[in-house]
Amino acid sequence: MKSYAERLERQRLAIFLLHGIVARPPAPGSLRNYTRKHIPVQDFEEFLAALLERGRPLTMNEVLETCRAGQPFSDRSFAITFDDGFANNLTVAAPVLRRFKIPACFYVTTSFVESNLMSWTDRLEDLIERAPNRSARFAGGDHALADRRSRIQFLEILRRELKSGPAAAIPPALDDLARQCGIPLAASGTGELDRKLNWDEVRQLARDPLFTVGGHSHQHLVLAAMEPAALEQEIRTSMEILENRLGFKPHHYSYPEGTPSAYSEAVIRELRRHGVTCCPTAEDGINAAEADPFRLKRIMVT
Ligand SMILES: [Zn+2]
Repeated sequence: MKSYAERLERQRLAIFLLHGIVARPPAPGSLRNYTRKHIPVQDFEEFLAALLERGRPLTMNEVLETCRAGQPFSDRSFAITFDDGFANNLTVAAPVLRRFKIPACFYVTTSFVESNLMSWTDRLEDLIERAPNRSARFAGGDHALADRRSRIQFLEILRRELKSGPAAAIPPALDDLARQCGIPLAASGTGELDRKLNWDEVRQLARDPLFTVGGHSHQHLVLAAMEPAALEQEIRTSMEILENRLGFKPHHYSYPEGTPSAYSEAVIRELRRHGVTCCPTAEDGINAAEADPFRLKRIMVT
């Protein structure tokens, strides 16, 4: 594991972006989690211990207050955040965070929690792992599926091409690949890499004073690519569901994808209108004094 603690700097804030923590090692030769979206728990413990040795943890509320006051961050500040709402955030990550007394913010995608849904990228990874085929066609080309390496190469191409195209093209592309493979696409999963938090579990996180819960859209769509009415509905739906299920209205949020093209002035305006006060990106970097709470950079942990 890379030394993330080395990225901490005096009077600056490093916000780390994680998705999941897993208790079990991957099955030998398996394709799932090849990107290390979910970190093995021993690596997570080492990562936190190294951060505590050099830096000082902040809650996202403390981050927001410091930004608003225009003050420099004290010591070498850091914050821990999780996107998407995986169940392992509660079952594996939370006990470790409690042991280290390190706060964290969990940004949950409301449709994922409502129906235990998988993101399209996870559905794709699961499909390509299970595919019995030796090859598959995509965008007019033949792609080998002969071994783990060629499957990873194909997944990289699929991810890149589908992320750069219109969102409406993704479901038919996944359906076409499933048809070629002759196996159904998974919609939800019960394993460590797929199961999402349910609302009772999200409430358990929200009740813990060490933890904060925020929004991460309803359907995990790229917000900046949406028409105004659809954007308003996507944000409103996520905020209404969170308020109904939690009993309070969160004011923390993170952008799906989080790249510079995933958010815009229009997105920020809409989030503010719905009571959001802080929304970090997934752009790599650390944050200085007077950082804009809607443009905070994060460091992806893999
Ligand atoms: Zn996400």
